[in-house]
Amino acid sequence: MSGALRANASRTDIDAVVVGAGGAGLWAALELAREGIPTAVLTKLYPTRSHTGAAQGGVCAALGNVEEDHWEWHMFDTVKGGDYLTDQDAAEVLAREAIPAVIELERMGLPFNRTPDGKIDQRRFGGHTRNYGEGPVRRSCYAADRTGHMILQTLYQQCIKAGVKFYDEYHVVDLVFEGGEADKGGRCSGVVGYKISDGSLHVFRAKTVLLATGGYGRAWRVTSNAHSLTGDGMALAWRHGVPLMDMEFYQFHPTGIVGIGILLSEAARGEGGYLLNNEGKRFMESYAPKLMELAPRDMVSRAIYQEVRAGRGIDGKDYVYLDVRHLGRKVIEEKLPDITDFARVYQGVEPISEPVPIQPTAHYAMGGVPTNLNTEVIAGPDGSVVPGLFAAGEVACVSVHGANRLGTNSLVDLLVFGKRAGKRMAAICKSTQLPAARPGAETAVADEMAAMASRPEGVRPAEIRRDLAALMMDNVGVYRDEALLSAAVREIARLKGEYARVRVEDTGSVFNTDLLEARELGYLLDTAEATAVSALARKESRGAHSREDYPDRDDAKFLAHTMVWRGSDGAPAERIAYKPVTITIFEPKPRIY
Ligand SMILES: Cc1cc2nc3c(=O)[nH]c(=O)nc-3n(C[C@H](O)[C@H](O)[C@H](O)COP(=O)(O)OP(=O)(O)OC[C@H]3O[C@@H](n4cnc5c(N)ncnc54)[C@H](O)[C@@H]3O)c2cc1C
Repeated sequence: MSGALRANASRTDIDAVVVGAGGAGLWAALELAREGIPTAVLTKLYPTRSHTGAAQGGVCAALGNVEEDHWEWHMFDTVKGGDYLTDQDAAEVLAREAIPAVIELERMGLPFNRTPDGKIDQRRFGGHTRNYGEGPVRRSCYAADRTGHMILQTLYQQCIKAGVKFYDEYHVVDLVFEGGEADKGGRCSGVVGYKISDGSLHVFRAKTVLLATGGYGRAWRVTSNAHSLTGDGMALAWRHGVPLMDMEFYQFHPTGIVGIGILLSEAARGEGGYLLNNEGKRFMESYAPKLMELAPRDMVSRAIYQEVRAGRGIDGKDYVYLDVRHLGRKVIEEKLPDITDFARVYQGVEPISEPVPIQPTAHYAMGGVPTNLNTEVIAGPDGSVVPGLFAAGEVACVSVHGANRLGTNSLVDLLVFGKRAGKRMAAICKSTQLPAARPGAETAVADEMAAMASRPEGVRPAEIRRDLAALMMDNVGVYRDEALLSAAVREIARLKGEYARVRVEDTGSVFNTDLLEARELGYLLDTAEATAVSALARKESRGAHSREDYPDRDDAKFLAHTMVWRGSDGAPAERIAYKPVTITIFEPKPRIY
């Protein structure tokens, strides 16, 4: 065994394992603790550093505190926002259960901004409308532009109070299956964790395992996502025979800081900010005359690209302006304090007196590990359940966001489906026995990791990572076509070949982040492959997936979720199937705003 790993794994038996301590994982853990289920939360980051804490703008629920609103309107907006790929039963659950979830958070002590009469204040966000599309509605509940931070702190405090057991800085490096892989009817029976501080392996045997590991924005060069968002849960499930669903739908947020992608929240537009081209024109007039800057993100990102292509970027370059000057100092400082600081610190721009240069940034995975409404992972289009395995939050695809997520619909997804995960897992834990132990469950992953840290020569992970991120940006970005995507699939296969010879230089066992980053690169390669292969197969344009060679939506052929399986023994992914969309109320219509 290499020095990077300590010999002899420890073993723990427990009812429930939650992988990830963002909003989804924490609410699930809280629910499990309330039901008296022994639960371990494993997280590679300290819990309060999860990306949920970076969420700025808000969490939506049709409370109707500021103006009339109804969950049915929220459901409709979610379906239309998702370009009718959203499963409507899931959108109904989201819109209905958002309301009690937000009120429960308030009761837990979350310091929301208030209306003058003391209710939770609400603001506008893209694609959220009154009366089925008439005009913008105030639906997003917020705590300045630090809503995610407040949610994370509040849920973490509640978990500590409820006695949830945390394994901080344990990196989950594998899932354990019993009776075959997921596509052969097997059951998930635990996880293998790597303790970052000392390089020891720990096998957790459990009745239920929840993946709540967040997204994979780090596959792109310009992204709003934290360094740790590398698709771990998606890739681990994929490696064990679970298909990934709708991976071609990856959202680019319109307003990232130029070059580095750090997010300037849509709250800036929700509060009334403008987007301007080099003629000083509010160009959204030409693309979404009714909602203007508050059109959904896929449309606004495409509009920015179109302006730039037409030579109307600022100084002829590849960005435009976000202008909040007319909102005045008070609104900017009280309601948008963090993002104002980001513009000052990272761009040297003063938003009170200057427009801020912005461009689209890779932001959110609509696709992921497929689940049913109770967050149970499913093995194929027939909806058969993978026993023992659950997924919630950005790692999952249930599918509430369809082909494009609306702003503030992710935080609420975490709350609603995190809670559902906890409840369902608790019920299963009460009615099942621990699966049989699998001796040597850690051997395969231990060998893979030891090999990386003991190769005398090989390729450096950083080089592959840089090439992958550039490739995804250029070929699998906002606009795509056959040639770009075929080249991406080929190039990812080549990079995977290189990765098989990857070598890390740090061979120690204490905080060996080199080794973990190399491991994460493997997850990024897998999720990138699933994305490119699914995008190549979908010959239409829908939501965030925009094919220049197939510019129209094609409901006859593609009103369906893509499911893609990993190739065996390192072969590229080829097996794809389509799962019908659940339509309950709203028949698909052209999507005009
Ligand atoms: C800058 C930014 C702003 C945003 N603003 C908003 C907003 O205003 N409103 C909104 O609705 N959405 C917003 N989003 C989206 C939303 O914040 C995320 O989709 C959501 O927080 C994801 O939560 P999660 O619980 O799924 O995972 P995360 O919060 O990303 O947490 C992932 C967890 O998994 C753990 N983990 C990952 N891999 C492993 C592993 N291998 N082993 C152990 N642990 C692991 C991590 O340690 C972490 O605890 C924003 C996103 C970004 C990036």
